[in-house]
Amino acid sequence: MPEAGERWALFLDVDGTLVAIAATPEQARPEPMLSPLLQRLARASDGALALISGRSLASIDRVFAPLRLPAAGLHGWERRRGDGGVVTHQPPAAALERLRPRLAAYVAGRRGLLLEDKGTGFALHYRLAPERGPAVRRFARRLASAEPELRLLAGRKVAELQPRGASKGEAIAAFLAEPPFAGRRPVFAGDDTTDEDGFIAVNAAGGVSLRVEDAETRGRGPSAARHRVAGVGALHRWLGVLAQRLEAADRSTRSGAAGCHPVLR
Ligand SMILES: [Mg+2]
Repeated sequence: MPEAGERWALFLDVDGTLVAIAATPEQARPEPMLSPLLQRLARASDGALALISGRSLASIDRVFAPLRLPAAGLHGWERRRGDGGVVTHQPPAAALERLRPRLAAYVAGRRGLLLEDKGTGFALHYRLAPERGPAVRRFARRLASAEPELRLLAGRKVAELQPRGASKGEAIAAFLAEPPFAGRRPVFAGDDTTDEDGFIAVNAAGGVSLRVEDAETRGRGPSAARHRVAGVGALHRWLGVLAQRLEAADRSTRSGAAGCHPVLR
């Protein structure tokens, strides 16, 4: 696990990782201690902390307001760099236009389904009607196979149609090529199938991959993540210890006593 004497870059998924999953994305609320903790971690890593989410940047900012951190939104489709500049790709507008009415019609006749129009992609949520999952995934797969510019991402009680050409792993790699992330060892914590690209990216960079598990995901399929954390609360505690260690290392470096840092277990 992270040694406090090293320089770390922290990448954190939002829903199911930092914030407990709610019935709908709008209902997800961070615990009050979370924003101060993220600010401490960002400070202790010289700003090398980024949120990596399937939400849009606007939605990430709503969750953590007034805090605005470097972030990759829409599974890497849009990215706010360490210097605040935003990198976005041009969405495949014609493909999205073709799908919008079909998705709206599909949801209209089926109770418990929620269509989230992210502007550059769609998320079809079925958490309120989990029995519809297999049919929703079949429908989304059919739509995706007819639109080569889009791909299907099957997440936790959600089927997402997102433009190709971006992933959480590519977003992490892009951050690691820029200040203040470059030259640091990455940590990525996530909970879902769409985080696997991120786990693979940090493993390849010699970093630490952490999967947050709960009753819904425990024991589910193989994962590229090399470490497990039992739930959102346990990750908060782990991050709290990490913040303390990084702050202590920072103090001792400044007082000229570097080189005697404890190992975080
Ligand atoms: Mg998640």
